[in-house]
Amino acid sequence: AQHFLARAKSHQHLGAYVALNEDATLAQARAQDASIAAGTAAPLAGVPIAHKDIFVTRDFPTTAASRMLAGYRSPFDATVVARLAEAGCVTLGKLNCDEFAMGGTNENSAVAPVGFDAPRPVRNPWDGARVPGGSSGGSAAAVAARLAPAVTGTDTGGSIRQPASFCGVTGIKPTYGRASRYGMIAFASSLDQAGPMARSAEDCALLLSAMCGPDPDRDSTSLDRPAEDFGRALGDSLEGLRIGVPAEFFGEGLAADVHAAVDAALKEYEKLGARLVPITLPRTDLSVPVYYILAPAEASSNLSRFDGVRYGYRAKDYADLLDMYKKTRAQGFGDEVKRRIMIGTYVLSEGYYDAYYLQAQKLRRMIADDFQAAFKECDLIAGPVAPTTAWRLGSQNDPVANYLADIYTLPASLAGLPGMSVPAGFGEGGLPVGLQLIGNYFQEARLLNAAHRLQ
Ligand code: GLN
Repeated sequence: AQHFLARAKSHQHLGAYVALNEDATLAQARAQDASIAAGTAAPLAGVPIAHKDIFVTRDFPTTAASRMLAGYRSPFDATVVARLAEAGCVTLGKLNCDEFAMGGTNENSAVAPVGFDAPRPVRNPWDGARVPGGSSGGSAAAVAARLAPAVTGTDTGGSIRQPASFCGVTGIKPTYGRASRYGMIAFASSLDQAGPMARSAEDCALLLSAMCGPDPDRDSTSLDRPAEDFGRALGDSLEGLRIGVPAEFFGEGLAADVHAAVDAALKEYEKLGARLVPITLPRTDLSVPVYYILAPAEASSNLSRFDGVRYGYRAKDYADLLDMYKKTRAQGFGDEVKRRIMIGTYVLSEGYYDAYYLQAQKLRRMIADDFQAAFKECDLIAGPVAPTTAWRLGSQNDPVANYLADIYTLPASLAGLPGMSVPAGFGEGGLPVGLQLIGNYFQEARLLNAAHRLQ
């Protein structure tokens, strides 16, 4: 813990951490040392971990990278945070992210990282002029720069997989409902899932096993399935494994260097005995408009709780209650969050609901059905995570272009399927490229083994 705290401080310029609490961390570490000495150690005793600042924590402030939560302190820990602590993990601090997890570059954070007075984008450790990806950008940067051996992230439409790809680390989003959403600040509740990011699939398996499990009293969408050992298949042979390669993931828009790295990884799988099977996910294109209707719709509802009364920020001067709401929300939310609230409110409004929201719901079901058809022919699916390697900071100012870059991660999110990113090599300029692996429901152990075999 001391080693990682020191590294976090000497690498402040990366902007990965938004909170460190040395005293709390060392107190936890000492308790774990004692448990190890007494022979009563939990499975992850003493493993330092840092959490995306979208999970609420008692020992650290929680901001969701928003001005709206300035000064907020949660009276409880998120279930995922509590479970990892029970498993013996020692919490180092909180990690930067896009505001309310909306974004893919971490440039939407409104919070100053540790050591700075003003917000400042997280740097990609491989190239400080580039973004780490998002929204779990601080998480990915922290693992890549060895500022934490293990971190949590959340993935609504790719926010674990895409930053893992951009930073060359391993990350997994489990089947929707595996990890409790209790204490995870809600963006789009029907899509939000927590997951670990670390240096290897093996580490991810250990962390995921500690994070998951039913939480029926506190998250009604948590699945009623017992906790599992997600590492149980590690080392299994890939002989005869059918890997589906969706044609739609290799079309126009996929950068040549990413394409080449993904192809090389697929060849490696063939050498390991797997068989590549061409498949089709015909509604891949539609996942972008579908997601960018449904996620903002849910966000517009979820974010209505930030009214200046219940949490964090309140505008200083206002005339009456309505004026207080308006000014608080105008000042507290950043541009991207406001854009999503407006889109969401629009698609849910009378007269537009059927044309947008309902239509998107139907297409969501069809996208999920397409996966089930594909899984008749293959055991897992492989392809790129993102069309390119990490972008330059400040280069992606067009929101629509940003949304389109989520094309390969959104389908699995909409279907609620487990997905992961595993390092697959490097593209131009030595930037990391991730391979995306998508499994059928509850196939996390198989995914993690496939990722492990590539490492
Ligand atoms: N980039 C996507 C978005 O902006 C995904 C974000 C996420 O998974 N939290 O919505």
